[in-house]
Amino acid sequence: MQPLIDTFGRVHTNLRISVTDRCNIRCFYCMPAENVQFMERAALLTFEEIEHFVRVAVPLGLKQIRLTGGEPLVRKDLHVLVAKLAAIEGIEDIGLTTNGILLAEQALALHDAGLRRINVSLDALDPQKFEQITRRQGFEKVIAGIQAARDVGFDPVKVNAVAVRGLTEDEIVPFGHFARRTGVEIRFIEFMPLDADGAWQREKVLFADEIAAILEREIMPLIPRPGQDPHAPASEFMFADGVGHVGFISSVSRPFCMSCDRFRITADGKLRNCLFSLEETDIREMLRSGAEDSEIARAIRESIAAKNEGHEINTSRFIQPNRPMYSIGG
Ligand code: SAM
Ligand code: SF4
Repeated sequence: MQPLIDTFGRVHTNLRISVTDRCNIRCFYCMPAENVQFMERAALLTFEEIEHFVRVAVPLGLKQIRLTGGEPLVRKDLHVLVAKLAAIEGIEDIGLTTNGILLAEQALALHDAGLRRINVSLDALDPQKFEQITRRQGFEKVIAGIQAARDVGFDPVKVNAVAVRGLTEDEIVPFGHFARRTGVEIRFIEFMPLDADGAWQREKVLFADEIAAILEREIMPLIPRPGQDPHAPASEFMFADGVGHVGFISSVSRPFCMSCDRFRITADGKLRNCLFSLEETDIREMLRSGAEDSEIARAIRESIAAKNEGHEINTSRFIQPNRPMYSIGG
């Protein structure tokens, strides 16, 4: 069967599934502080509907899945969904992106269900800075979650840290030492214009090159890691003595759109061909109205075929999507 290919020749094998838009913290670069309008529970795709969609997408070339949200671990019994997806022939890899607050209590069940990769989002190693960013408590739980994930055998465990100018500079060197001490890879993500408050400004982006320069000056030179996946959003490095891995997701300073192999489905079943897409395809409506699998497959193909060349953050044409990150699924 023809792969999921767009007009720029990009083949799509990687699906991000958002399982909820709810979250137990309130990171300022993602959610509003108060009065968040969450989706009705009945609007969320059920596990069976998600599984159905994935079964339609696998013959089209889908191989890798990442579960996200909102906070995926607030969705009840997430491990049940993991087990359903892991049982689908053709799915080679299932990952999870989580804020880690509930990870310690769920790590074992998730691992047993077939999850193998975990990215924990943690922007600061200073508990007060953590609270300033997330507007909630929970730092110790996240650290315990990272430890629990490693203890039950997740490998690799990666930490995602959003880098914001004027706020997280002091976290860079401690994260470098944390990577060296623990073996956890730290991936610095440039702040993107997907915040609910619309407060993003280019001046607030702490660029990957600046972070790398600080690490090299304060710790030691970085060298590129061999054998990197050309589709991975992060460029990966290790310290020159081979101890400690760091990565950079430089979505703003060095967009990687031309190697993108990802598509997304929101918690309410809207298919998006890009994080920054302004258009969606209503898969939930198709699933609930009894559409044939061939119609759903055609809708997936059409969505991918219509993918734009890139996100245009760096141009005056850029339009911020009307869904913030927590509602799209990061
Ligand atoms: N709640 C989970 C978490 O935080 O890991 C999963 C969803 S979250 C939306 C996915 C990732 O997007 C996190 O690593 C988060 O830090 C990142 N993120 C959210 N808003 C962002 C923004 N405006 N710019 C860059 N990264 C962002
Ligand atoms: Fe929640 Fe993740 Fe958004 Fe933070 S980034 S508010 S943890 S969904």
